[in-house]
Order: sequence, then structure tokens, then C-alpha cells
Amino acid sequence: MAEQHVEGCLFCGIATGKIPSTRVYEDETVIGFRDINPGAPTHVLIIPRAHIEGIDAPAARDDAILSALIHAAQQIAQQEGVAKSGYRLVWNVGPDAGQTIFHLHLHLLGGRQLAWPPG
Ligand code: AMP
Ligand code: ZN
Repeated sequence: MAEQHVEGCLFCGIATGKIPSTRVYEDETVIGFRDINPGAPTHVLIIPRAHIEGIDAPAARDDAILSALIHAAQQIAQQEGVAKSGYRLVWNVGPDAGQTIFHLHLHLLGGRQLAWPPG
């Protein structure tokens, strides 16, 4: 069940290494890589290796995967030197949030003062 990839999915391609990315973190469940169009000095995307369409997909009801994503975020924040200065974790869900890629991903943004509410 874990290694389930979808043909034509960009982030499955990144997870399997078919599509290049700058990885900053990996474990058996998730990987973290730099966003290609960063919105902050630190902008990392954290994804499950297995394809899950989004946070509202039935497959996202997997506590092990969700906690792996969140724990990876904390680890990456340490590595990137933003754990103390602060950072933001974001799920974009659906059109109003501007979700463009339908493979679950958690954004980690930091390294500058982030405005609230977001635009
Ligand atoms: P979202 O709007 O939440 O679906 O975010 C998708 C994110 O993926 C955007 O921030 C894009 O800049 C990023 N992105 C798109 N293609 C790539 C890629 N090949 N490598 C890294 N990040 C990407
Ligand atoms: Zn995928």
C-alpha cells in the first residue's frame, strides 16, 4: 500500500526520483524538497512517498502519514535554522486556497516575517 504512485503526477515523479528536486529531508514515509518558486527564504514542500490526492482524500486518514509529515516539518525547521525565528505550515485545499498539485503536500515557509492573514 505504501509505495503507490500515479502516472503523470509531478510529485510522484519527485518521490521516485524520476523528476529532479532539491531534497532536504527524507525518511521511509515522507520526503522534503525545496519549492521551485519559493515564497520565502525557506520554502520546503513535504510530501508522502505514496500518492494521496490531498488532505481531504480518504487516504489522508492515516495518522502515521500525517504525523510523519508534521514531524518532518519540525526536523526541517531545525535544519533550515528557522525553528526559533518561526515558520508557517500550510495546507492549500481546493480552488480558493490555490491548490495546484493534487498530491498531498505541506508547505513550510520561514526566514522572513510572514504577513497574517495571508493574501
Ligand atoms: P499548491 O498551490 O499548494 O498546490 O502548491 C504547489 C507548489 O508546488 C507551488 O508552491 C509550486 O511552486 C511548487 N512546485 C511546482 N512544481 C514544482 C517542482 N517541479 N519542484 C518543486 N516545487 C514545485
Ligand atoms: Zn502523486
